[in-house]
Amino acid sequence: MNKVALITGITGQDGAYLAEYLIKKGYTVHGIKRRSSMFNTDRIDHLYQDPHIENRNLILHYGDLTDSLNLTRIIGEVQPDEIYNLAAMSHVKVSFDTPEYTANADGLGVLRILEAVRLLNLIPKTRIYQASTSELYGLVQEVPQKETTPFYPRSPYAVAKLYGYWITVNYREAYKMHASNGILFNHESPLRGETFVTRKVTRAISRIALNMQEKVYMGNLSSKRDWGHAKDYVRAMYAILQQDEPSDYVIATGITTTIRDFIKMTFEEVGMEVSFHGEGVNEVAVLRSINEKIFKEKVGEVYFENANKRIGEEVVGVDPQYFRPTEVELLIGDATKARERLGWEPQYSLKTLIEDMVLSDVKLMKKESYLREGGYKILNYFE
Ligand code: NDP
Repeated sequence: MNKVALITGITGQDGAYLAEYLIKKGYTVHGIKRRSSMFNTDRIDHLYQDPHIENRNLILHYGDLTDSLNLTRIIGEVQPDEIYNLAAMSHVKVSFDTPEYTANADGLGVLRILEAVRLLNLIPKTRIYQASTSELYGLVQEVPQKETTPFYPRSPYAVAKLYGYWITVNYREAYKMHASNGILFNHESPLRGETFVTRKVTRAISRIALNMQEKVYMGNLSSKRDWGHAKDYVRAMYAILQQDEPSDYVIATGITTTIRDFIKMTFEEVGMEVSFHGEGVNEVAVLRSINEKIFKEKVGEVYFENANKRIGEEVVGVDPQYFRPTEVELLIGDATKARERLGWEPQYSLKTLIEDMVLSDVKLMKKESYLREGGYKILNYFE
């Protein structure tokens, strides 16, 4: 019999990579997706199977982390060997706008899953992975941050995730559940949501290179993050649930980089060199030079002339609307425990992560540019 996994948040970045990974391992994967007025399954469409096919290895259910009855019914029907709770309102800045909803989905949502497993008498069968986050560390207490570092959350998102973390630990201790937290540091990929900082950068720089956009506005350029590739991080989630004993693990690369340097490296990936000037809200990046060979290879010959004309222009600015009310200045993780116990190592470096993201975004943006040149207009239903 195939092992059965249930993934909440399957339509998100990590859900998509994890579903693909588990299907390749021979799992039958069930996923919970939210009802939406538009299709929201782009990231997993390549895995989709017609419901009329027998023995499907991907089955989707409508559901929501804020609905206990729905979660309990699905878990009861699916009888999963493993649950990966990845669903969350995952955007830190947006959590300041929707704090109550974030607490409900990201905090109480975890309780609903744990309690469903308990009430359905599935404790001996079902292992649970909870998507915890480096944002729990918030205000720096120790560098680098490891499993024993005290938490100091700095956003409604992180506070909700703090509840999720501790309720997972509590159910493990109280009911002997195989429930574990992965304290994952930032991880990115071509599938990262467009409003997250790395993807915003790779997307905007692809558009700047293709002459589709003049400038990008950013928030705090000095924040430091430990960035890995989502493909590496879903391997860690799986490994955590294969351990005989449940436990909590930091998953990180151990290298931290400012957003400013991430931007520089992304420009370099397409052969463009920028320099930063000024401070705070007045800081800007100016395009200094273009390496013709790299640019033509990565972006395309036809775009070079227009890009080259822009040397000396500002391509990055700062807009305080993107500042968080309370910032997390420095995240850098120590994944020694994961290395020693899980044998986990990241395979991507920051450079290869950026390369993967930029190549994908250049391709995507070119598609948009071709469509526009071909006369494509956004459909106006009211015209
Ligand atoms: P995404 O934002 O890409 O995906 C979140 C998923 O959760 C989406 O499928 C979304 O559905 C779903 N979702 C949101 N709210 C609900 C809800 N109320 N009920 C059911 N589903 C819901 O996040 P990632 O894939 O990047 O992250 C996965 C998990 O890991 C999240 O919990 C995140 O907080 C956590 N995490 C992520 C890190 C990162 O760097 N990526 C770092 C540390 C932790 P829809 O597609 O409909 O929006």
